[in-house]
Amino acid sequence: MSNRRTFAIISHPDAGKTTLTEKLLLQGGAIHLAGEVKARGQARRARSDWMKIEQQRGISVTSSVMTFEKEYEGETITFNLLDTPGHEDFSEDTYRTLTAVDSAVMVIDAAKGIEPQTRKLFEVCRLRNVPIITFVNKVDREGRDPFETLDEVADMLALDVSPQMWPIGMGGQFEGLLDFASGEVSRPEGPSKEFLGTRDSDPEIPEEWAEEAELAQAGYPEFDLEAYRSGDLTPVYFGSALKNFGVTELIDAIARYAPPPRPQPAGEARITPEHDEVTGFIFKVQANMDPNHRDRIAFMRQVSGTFKRGMKLTPSGLGKPIAIHSPILFFAQDREIADTAEAGDIIGIPNHGTLRVGDTLSEKDVVRFTGLPNFAPEILRRVQLKDPTKTKQLRKALDDLSEEGVIQVFYPEIGAQHIVGVVGQLQLDVLISRLSAEYKVGAALEASPFATARWLKGEQKLLDEFESFNRANLARDRDGDLVFMAKSPWDVNYQVEKNPELTFSATKER
Ligand code: GDP
Repeated sequence: MSNRRTFAIISHPDAGKTTLTEKLLLQGGAIHLAGEVKARGQARRARSDWMKIEQQRGISVTSSVMTFEKEYEGETITFNLLDTPGHEDFSEDTYRTLTAVDSAVMVIDAAKGIEPQTRKLFEVCRLRNVPIITFVNKVDREGRDPFETLDEVADMLALDVSPQMWPIGMGGQFEGLLDFASGEVSRPEGPSKEFLGTRDSDPEIPEEWAEEAELAQAGYPEFDLEAYRSGDLTPVYFGSALKNFGVTELIDAIARYAPPPRPQPAGEARITPEHDEVTGFIFKVQANMDPNHRDRIAFMRQVSGTFKRGMKLTPSGLGKPIAIHSPILFFAQDREIADTAEAGDIIGIPNHGTLRVGDTLSEKDVVRFTGLPNFAPEILRRVQLKDPTKTKQLRKALDDLSEEGVIQVFYPEIGAQHIVGVVGQLQLDVLISRLSAEYKVGAALEASPFATARWLKGEQKLLDEFESFNRANLARDRDGDLVFMAKSPWDVNYQVEKNPELTFSATKER
């Protein structure tokens, strides 16, 4: 079985994702070897590297990849943690990153429970049957009753919950964490009340808490690997990222239960990691450090084979192979040049705009991965050009940025104004700042009459007919595909009912 675990952390801002990420990286082998103090410095440097890019952008849009290793039961497990940008706001980047993982860790604040963004991200995971391990964070603080949190997860997300640990008290009364599997309690120590490694194997637990823990064990389903892997059950770990509680248990759970690289759909076929050639798909494109050069890094999730530096891969749609000379693997402490990579790994491929989100890369140019969706935009704006002589530059910029996945662009069948669509407001800010910084195009956004969009499919004759009646509400996307621009959700429903033989799709697979 593969030793790769490729996962993401989903959470609402402030739940503790960053703190937990740091703790996971610190426990990761590579950083330990370097010594913790130095490692902390290095980790910070690596982070500040990314931050530099983000500052140039004036906004944090980076979704980076962190790799770490840890021994688990005599085997070295390689973890690829894909970071999703932590904003109140939402972008397609975040959605797409979830197309490249095999599992997710859902971090919940013990005092707040499921928050809106946790829920949205969860829904994306569910769409793709991504299994989820739950980490209820901040048990060192006064929080809700753990039962309440468990029931909320179960009810709101329609998931079976299976607690694996139990907090002994919370907040000021926090006395440690009971691990159901081992029966051990990890104890807070020293003035900071951190977990420093002391595990009590014959713990005395105050009666009230012992009863609770028993109830919890008896009252919820037992862990079931199959149910977890199919996305029907989530094992729940309690802990404190800040004070280091539950972190080891969480890593071990990922090593033990989280699925190794999964087969990916390619039309009717499914490509397994054992497939006899290197294949992968691009889930993200990030413009590089220097905004004046159109350098980009395309992030490829490898699906099969063993990749070697210098290898030639053919991007779908290009028809000719390109040599991948300087691929980048994203290590926690540094970005290193990769020599080899396996299924489940993420490779950064520098390019000048050849590679687009959704592209398949492969040795033989036969496989085409499907199921990499564009999401129907929730915000649509007209682009108002300040200098009318820059029409061409604007079109080029919009095409480029939609290739990168920053925005989606729609060209209405009637009228000359381009419409941009996004799922989160943040994407619009990025658009305006990049239009001016990189393309020297001054533009403003104004309201559009549309609220959402649906991709249209059906028999050509019926499409033509629909088109002739609804031209004012139709546009073409970047690929020339027909899109119905809806003024409201009601508008969508109305057309769906009126045209049962057409499909109105909220996602588009490339
Ligand atoms: P993110 O927005 O999800 O990345 O959250 P951060 O990791 O930045 O954490 C948000 C705040 O919560 C910070 O002030 C953290 O120090 C704090 N925090 C994170 N984990 C814990 C925890 O386990 N216990 C307590 N008490 N505070 C925490």
